[in-house]
Amino acid sequence: MTWFDQHCHLPAGADSDEVVADAAAAGVSRLLTVGTDLEHSRQAIAVAQRHQSVWATVGVHPHDAHGGLDGIVELLDEPSVVAVGEAGLDFHYDHSPHPAQEEAFRRQIAIAKELKKPLVIHTRSAPEDTLRILREERAKDVGGIIHCFSEDAPFAKAALDLGFVSSFSGIVTFNKAVAVQDAAIQQPADALLIETDAPYLAPMPKRGKRNEPAYVAYTAARIAELRGEDPEALAQASYENAVRIFGIHE
Ligand SMILES: [Zn+2]
Ligand SMILES: [Zn+2]
Repeated sequence: MTWFDQHCHLPAGADSDEVVADAAAAGVSRLLTVGTDLEHSRQAIAVAQRHQSVWATVGVHPHDAHGGLDGIVELLDEPSVVAVGEAGLDFHYDHSPHPAQEEAFRRQIAIAKELKKPLVIHTRSAPEDTLRILREERAKDVGGIIHCFSEDAPFAKAALDLGFVSSFSGIVTFNKAVAVQDAAIQQPADALLIETDAPYLAPMPKRGKRNEPAYVAYTAARIAELRGEDPEALAQASYENAVRIFGIHE
């Protein structure tokens, strides 16, 4: 089985070597390390340049929206960069004021459209606003991924109508996440992805530990069980969806 963990945050520089090696040993042959601000986007590119199996995104997380987007566009030319983000809205933690989050989100959609790259969307406790902005900014022109899915099946359907597939993290393995599990069951196979969001949110049975890309199989196993599918077929479909969306040619 071969896996693509298309949303993780790898450690910088040489500290990434062990995590990437452990992932490879677990069959995770492709990794996408995600930028969250200028510094972490630069780090992500450096890690992608260091490892054959790693690609990068460049963007500003809603938590960091108050810092603006200076320097971000320039980084998006790098050949290892396959998407803009993570960008979006997080009204749960509210680390940045809402107008700053909205402004950074809208600008990153415009940048993605100009450069014809897909978007990696982070949305938490802001489902209506996220869908409204995707619609208003015509994000469908590039589409992308709702990462670390934490909403419900109607949201997943509305997002898909706007060109955004859903990516499920370890949250789907938590017993209380019934709405997320229902969304994973209903999601069409060609619009379903799996991620770790490592080092955050380790899936059961590793919950509470530092998450690793190598753990992507636990999340996939739970989704396969929920859908009554073979984990291998799910791994293959998720892999192919990621490669297609990010335009990664092997
Ligand atoms: Zn996120
Ligand atoms: Zn993330």
